[in-house]
Amino acid sequence: MQYKSFQPPRRTLMGPGPSDVHPRVLEAMARPTIGHLDPEFIGMMDQTKAMLQQAFQTQNELTMVISGPGSVGMETCFVNLVEPGDKVVVCRNGVFGGRMCENVERCGGTPIVVEGEWGRAIAPDGVEKILQANPDAKILAFVHAETSTGALSDARVLVELAHRHDCLTIVDAVTSLGGVELDVDGWQIDAVYAGSQKCLSCTPGLSPLSFGPRAVERLSNRRTRVQSWFMDLNLVWDYWGSGAKRTYHHTAPINALYGFHEALVILHEEGLHNAWRRHRENHAKLEAGLAELGLRYFVPESERIPQLNSVAIPEGVHDVRTRERLLRESDLEIGAGLGPLAGKIWRIGLMGHSSRPENIDLCLKALRRVLG
Ligand code: PLP
Repeated sequence: MQYKSFQPPRRTLMGPGPSDVHPRVLEAMARPTIGHLDPEFIGMMDQTKAMLQQAFQTQNELTMVISGPGSVGMETCFVNLVEPGDKVVVCRNGVFGGRMCENVERCGGTPIVVEGEWGRAIAPDGVEKILQANPDAKILAFVHAETSTGALSDARVLVELAHRHDCLTIVDAVTSLGGVELDVDGWQIDAVYAGSQKCLSCTPGLSPLSFGPRAVERLSNRRTRVQSWFMDLNLVWDYWGSGAKRTYHHTAPINALYGFHEALVILHEEGLHNAWRRHRENHAKLEAGLAELGLRYFVPESERIPQLNSVAIPEGVHDVRTRERLLRESDLEIGAGLGPLAGKIWRIGLMGHSSRPENIDLCLKALRRVLG
């Protein structure tokens, strides 16, 4: 067997993530590796943190990038904030809410599940009832933009409800950061994590995270040690904190962080509000084209994530064979449905650098051809 360098094909990524990586991000990642304690690198980390605070719209000091994909960001929130015996109210209206329940259980907590309809936003009434029935609950956790279905929930209202019932909040913003409004301080979110590979157009494998004052206080007053050494924010912060010891915790993914820094520079140049507008406008353009093809959206209009378009697969159309043809004939990737939605929906992403009119034209043309 002769092994050669891997040369990936050129694809257009219009699934639920990863999105197309911006060429500037790839270029930044190819720059020379320096030490993760090099003062130049530390300076870049400080800039990353400042730009991330702007993207999250927060002044939270504890704002950083976790070395691991969105799932590690999720787990970091749960292992640091949930102690054995804690009750956590979890909204489950898709796959990722389900993973939150698993996280609570694995931390020794008890998830109290608010079951939501897949393809719909989380209904605040249902959450309120559960919070009233569980006055000893400590946290409300939910997914802002449920990538598995395409439904966007009202994070502001849910956080307000949680605080009225004395609960902290853990919010999954993996698909929302950079694509739709997310106001961590304005909405008083306590703990939030996101992903690098969606609307920020960076490579997968990093998870931006931010903890507000109440979450930091909960962490400082734990009765028990954080059960994960790698994700214990008390330790990670010695590396990421400004003015902190900047001591070795783990070897940071140096070149990946160059890429993430560049992704934030690009977002900063575009402006957060302009980025949200672009995602909205491109969603409208795609929606009009899909309607012409007779494709129906799975999520009601007012509850849609603009950057993740879920459409019902038309009767008689073969899911896998259609997506295979799109990949083979047009180098275009769109996403399949997950769990109970497998074979029923397609998920067409317009995230970050993928959210461009030329991609929409390509996608509509390719779909027109395969749907005959
Ligand atoms: N949460 C949501 C809403 C997601 O869409 C994803 C990934 O698609 C994750 C969490 C997990 O992120 P990752 O796949 O980067 O671990």
